[in-house]
Amino acid sequence: MKLPPVDFAARVVRWQQSHGRNSLPWQNTRDPYCVWLSEIMLQQTQVSTVLDYYARFLARFPDVRALAGASQDEVLSLWSGLGYYSRARNLHRCAQQVVETHGGEFPRTADMLASLPGIGRSTAAAIASFCFGERVAILDGNVKRVLTRVLAFDEDLAVAANERSLWAVAQEMLPLAGMGDVMPRYTQGLMDLGATVCRTRNPSCLICPVQAVCTGFQSGAPEQYPVKTRKLKRTAQSLWLLQARRRGDGAVWLQKRPSTGIWAGLYCLPVYESRDALAAAMPPRVELQDEPGFTHVLTHKDLHLHPVQALLAAQPAAEGQWFAADAWAGLGLPAPIRKLLAASGEM
Ligand code: SF4
Repeated sequence: MKLPPVDFAARVVRWQQSHGRNSLPWQNTRDPYCVWLSEIMLQQTQVSTVLDYYARFLARFPDVRALAGASQDEVLSLWSGLGYYSRARNLHRCAQQVVETHGGEFPRTADMLASLPGIGRSTAAAIASFCFGERVAILDGNVKRVLTRVLAFDEDLAVAANERSLWAVAQEMLPLAGMGDVMPRYTQGLMDLGATVCRTRNPSCLICPVQAVCTGFQSGAPEQYPVKTRKLKRTAQSLWLLQARRRGDGAVWLQKRPSTGIWAGLYCLPVYESRDALAAAMPPRVELQDEPGFTHVLTHKDLHLHPVQALLAAQPAAEGQWFAADAWAGLGLPAPIRKLLAASGEM
């Protein structure tokens, strides 16, 4: 195992105090509900985007019981636009489990937190460290980058055993004393370093507080870390979207997506894998109007979306129901569908 550099934790803690981020709305609290909510939102999403969503969620669901008591539709609706909707579904399930199994109190250790839906090992460690001062290491993508560079850790992180060994050294690098105050600051400091100094490209080594103990910097090529060989293959898929409006009042036909797969649990225009399949769901003699297609980029997939408009007197042969425009604000809609409807003047 790589040896942790001397003085690393103290450097991170000192730097966080003077140069780190200290005034985000989910900081300066040890309320696990607030910290958990922010940590889940911040996975795969920029701070600047999360700020508004976080405020809206807290205003609507001020505590875990309020969130647990909401309907999944309401949670998905508030989440609409943040993407990665499995996070919202797990958020809701987790709140329910905290209420039903833990009497409305979040467990106080990383191990127990990690047993809840949607809370992985690193998120559990962040909550336990921020709220309860537990001496436990986080290892999200930003922190992996910082630590592999500091250690010049050149083992392939696609191999589980190598990732385990990085976890072990991350644990060794933690501060040794003053857990209640020092651990939250150290954890935040690592996150801040990864987000603002040790960026993926062009790390700002010259102003970095751990430069003197960074083996990657000393090697002259810190950007070669972390090493991860397995890349997920991107795929592409074409989908046709039926934008059916009811003659007379302009209500739109929406269906709830299945609980797995793309846009799971959200309300959506009926989706077809070909234009022929879409046309087959139409009553006879309905005129179809093809709208310009566009591409929506998911993490590992490009969706080529082809909207097709139809004005109907009867309902299409597709599951769903008519929704008037004023009902849509309360529905969880995928971002591209929301945009599409807004562009056609229906929202
Ligand atoms: Fe990252 Fe450079 Fe700091 Fe090393 S010195 S941790 S490579 S920013």
